[in-house]
Amino acid sequence: METIGFRRGLDRLLQSDVAVDVVTTDRSPSIMRESYPDIKHQFDPWHVAKGLKKKLTAAANNKNNRDLQPWLKSVTNHLWWSCKTCGGDAEELKRHWKSVLHHICGIHRWEEDGQEWTCYHKDLTADQQRRKKLLQKDSAAFKALLDLVLNKKLLKDLNQMTLFKHTGDLEVYHSAMLKYMQKRLHFTYNTMKARTQLSVMDHNSNVGREHATNCDGTPRYNLVPKQNKQWVARKIYQPTTQTFRKHLVERVLELRLDKTSSIHSLHSKTGQR
Ligand SMILES: [Zn+2]
Repeated sequence: METIGFRRGLDRLLQSDVAVDVVTTDRSPSIMRESYPDIKHQFDPWHVAKGLKKKLTAAANNKNNRDLQPWLKSVTNHLWWSCKTCGGDAEELKRHWKSVLHHICGIHRWEEDGQEWTCYHKDLTADQQRRKKLLQKDSAAFKALLDLVLNKKLLKDLNQMTLFKHTGDLEVYHSAMLKYMQKRLHFTYNTMKARTQLSVMDHNSNVGREHATNCDGTPRYNLVPKQNKQWVARKIYQPTTQTFRKHLVERVLELRLDKTSSIHSLHSKTGQR
């Protein structure tokens, strides 16, 4: 069903002359290569990072690789950062990504292919250096990390992650959609369609809200607990607006008062039943 939905949606966009430059998927379908060879296909870094984190955690849980434990979050963050900062260049992305293998051993300047490379961060203070639990190149933990970082499939996937097209906004839309279409309720096709349209209007009128600030202009954050007793700072955005509902009602009333239009003529105009 997902494949059929995807095809119908994309075909409709293309038939409506919407210029589709890139499509991002969760790394699954060969459908793009087979049916839409002219559209760029990217993989969602969130899905790839999730898979990597699972493998990293499994490796770090092995008692020989315990030293990897404190680095789990940093390594997955590094994958995100590498995609975000590569400027669309696959070689640059791989170089960023592989630099973690030097950094994690406390080496921030190295030579490769006769050229000198450095880490992309500012110089670390002695205190910052001391707080890091560095890995030794001959340790089991480092070898486990090396296998994962240089994994052939991952390096191949990186070629399709250069544009940093993550699907975070889509996840936000899906959760807003549940407000209109609770999964435990059954709706008829027309209701489902109308509710989807409402959820799209709601999303579109609230997407891209600004980061909320305090009276003194400082940005506002919420501290949110995560697994492993870690906390993260989550941005607080400006409140949502529901003014689209008012506009919608006004529009319906206008049409109702318009003697030249009727419900039936509206249906035939838009081709709906
Ligand atoms: Zn470094």
